[in-house]
Amino acid sequence: MTLSAPIPAAACGCDCPELVARLMPVDEALAAGLALAQPVDGREEVCLRAARGRVLAQPVTARSDMPRFDNSGMDGYALRLADLPASSALPVSGVCAAGGGLAALEPGTMMRIYTGAHVPRGADTVVMQEHVERSGDMARIIHLPEAGSNIRRRGEDQRQGDEVLAAGHLLDARKLAICAGAGLGTVSVSRKPKIGLLLTGDEICPAGQDVDGGEIWDVNTPMLTALCEEAGADIAAIRHVPDNPAELHAALAGIADEMDMIVTSGGVSVGDRDHLKPVLTSLGARIAVSGVAMKPGKPVTISRLGGAVIVSLPGNPVSAFVTWHLLGRPILGRLSGLAEAGTPRRLVRTRSRIVHKPGRCEYRPASIVGTDEAGLEIVSCGARTHSARLSPLAQSDGVVLITGDTACVEAGGRLEFLPF
Ligand code: AMP
Ligand code: MG
Repeated sequence: MTLSAPIPAAACGCDCPELVARLMPVDEALAAGLALAQPVDGREEVCLRAARGRVLAQPVTARSDMPRFDNSGMDGYALRLADLPASSALPVSGVCAAGGGLAALEPGTMMRIYTGAHVPRGADTVVMQEHVERSGDMARIIHLPEAGSNIRRRGEDQRQGDEVLAAGHLLDARKLAICAGAGLGTVSVSRKPKIGLLLTGDEICPAGQDVDGGEIWDVNTPMLTALCEEAGADIAAIRHVPDNPAELHAALAGIADEMDMIVTSGGVSVGDRDHLKPVLTSLGARIAVSGVAMKPGKPVTISRLGGAVIVSLPGNPVSAFVTWHLLGRPILGRLSGLAEAGTPRRLVRTRSRIVHKPGRCEYRPASIVGTDEAGLEIVSCGARTHSARLSPLAQSDGVVLITGDTACVEAGGRLEFLPF
């Protein structure tokens, strides 16, 4: 079941009550972030082969009826039922194959016909070959179908000029099939939004290099690059910046003009080494979201600087992943021109008891482990959310939402699941 209601506002007493007034519920943060984003200008015409994952910028209309002509849905024999004598046998006068032209049925005969072939003029029914006994040039029908059977009628799927796909759809295999079925070889798609990735942290070292002292491998660059590209963006710049306000200022100012979106990682909390928010303020960024009542991801910040929406994710990889999934990705969807920018959700049951500290709502990685007798999926999740542990995230299929006012969900209790 997919829920259409908005994510309930976290009944947030937060972990620390004084903070509550400063943290925004997730749905408000998403609305405020989306309000900063306009679909990018610019479209391009691409061939269908290159269009997967792109957003359709112009509606698709059918170039002709589909099917274009009455054709056989089966391998069999075409005839006019009224011609059939009591013996149910008729001579076979010819063959109609897919790709051939329109033939005319000689009265008092049948024609051999193959799937997709024009139904010959004068025929009103196709009998499947399994219901026909063939003997030389004669064929006898052993099971009479209803008149009109096994004929795919011209225009029964779509009519010439029908709008078969609206602008704003993400082009996947099924949507591309619609485009091809409408007779299009190319489609008009929105330009890919340009994203600048900005990774902060003195401790960050590119994965693959040797680490020393307090260094750690940079998990977020490959993770966020994959997430952004998966969501149809073009990674136009990647900057690694130490925890230094001047360098952060220069790096942000240096790319803001060229990007539709900047995704930052780390340095957005309130520690002395977290310089992002003061730098955004000094650059004159319009900060719409500064802290969200969610766990993980409390410090997430969303702002706009010039033409770029800046989504600032916490440095912990699990927090960055979850906040991207809930906030960053829908905002990118809006920039890409997607008509539907929400995060899909459905109801599931928890296999075991979930305990939660009331306050912020929590998105806990969970895996689907089965279904109950009514078909509702059953999920399993850890005893708590670890914002820096990668393995529970890697093993999960999505996150469950534990609302802010929840202290405990008993085993078998229902809650929302947001698949990755
Ligand atoms: P921060 O949000 O900068 O306070 O970082 C929170 C935690 O995430 C710290 O333990 C950082 O070392 C870690 N972290 C920050 N950036 C990354 C990254 N790119 N890859 C992996 N861990 C990171
Ligand atoms: Mg940091």
